[in-house]
Amino acid sequence: MHRIAVLTSGGDSPGMNPAIRAVTRTALHAGCEVFGVYRGYAGLIQNDMRRLEYKDVGGIIQRGGTMLLTARSPEFMTPAGREKAMENLRWHGIEGLVVIGGDGSLRGAAALTAEHGLPTICLPGTIDNDMYGTDMSIGADTALNTVLEAIDKIKDTASSHQRAFIIETMGRHSGYLALMGGLAGGAEAILIPEIPDTTIEDVVEVIKRSFRKGKTNCVIVAAEGAHLNAQTIQDQINQIDAEESGFSFSFRTRATILGHIQRGGSPSAFDRTLATRLGSGAVEFLLSGKNGGLVGMQSRKLTVTPYDEVLANPKVLDAKLYELSKILDRY
Ligand code: ADP
Repeated sequence: MHRIAVLTSGGDSPGMNPAIRAVTRTALHAGCEVFGVYRGYAGLIQNDMRRLEYKDVGGIIQRGGTMLLTARSPEFMTPAGREKAMENLRWHGIEGLVVIGGDGSLRGAAALTAEHGLPTICLPGTIDNDMYGTDMSIGADTALNTVLEAIDKIKDTASSHQRAFIIETMGRHSGYLALMGGLAGGAEAILIPEIPDTTIEDVVEVIKRSFRKGKTNCVIVAAEGAHLNAQTIQDQINQIDAEESGFSFSFRTRATILGHIQRGGSPSAFDRTLATRLGSGAVEFLLSGKNGGLVGMQSRKLTVTPYDEVLANPKVLDAKLYELSKILDRY
């Protein structure tokens, strides 16, 4: 294999840049030419790609986002769109493709390989940490630290006002950021889509109990896709009558939706080293003929898990950590 391409696709995550850098420089070191494709699969269809040299990926290791830009491409979801993409790859003589992205991007790579026989390999780039085949995905650690910083800051103001706060983290189907952020931030309750066992009555009770026991603040962390969303919880909390509950202060509060700040920021040391090792590993696998899978780090070892296996298995959240959070924080 003499010429490969690399692209980032779907939602961006901090650490995509160090991954692009590692892919590019490892491939150049092995004597391969590298093409960077702009705006993910959309750029593949529009033939928006150019050669990357050693210096082109300099100065990006500390930068969030992705220098190759990213996009969502409905056209690539059709066989005709993928045929167009393949024509462009053929025209450039590209023999292998590295895709950095989430589940959707991996499906796209799998389709390209299945239909056209192009060797592809994927790196897990998502803050949700919801991909099977790797312990951690690129960007999840940085996002978690952003969540934690927000929780700590909100606790300061919550304490000053003796208030309860609800913090919503990203994760439509994944509770990773909420669970780990809540655990590390000492949240009084955590709501995640994977374990929908907390009722609104539980949340209200947790808050009342917290203040009765003399806590100065109460923080609830809810994932975006949890069975009770932050707005619902806020409305219920605001209905707790201060007089009836015997407190001298109001429970009135607002939900804080962290939103896209969780996607940004300079990648953490963990994400930079993970992205570097996965990016370099992906090229080594691709050049040695191993492809059609997700490169991950599992129990500190580089692994390649076939696309079919990744897509057939949901990533399992550590339920013991959820139970632990109840023991530690709901006293
Ligand atoms: P992520 O990779 O972050 O999960 P998306 O789900 O939006 O993000 O997927 C990114 C892109 O991957 C989509 O815009 C589309 O071009 C491509 N893609 C997603 N699912 C498929 C699929 N089933 N077949 C082909 N391409 C897909």
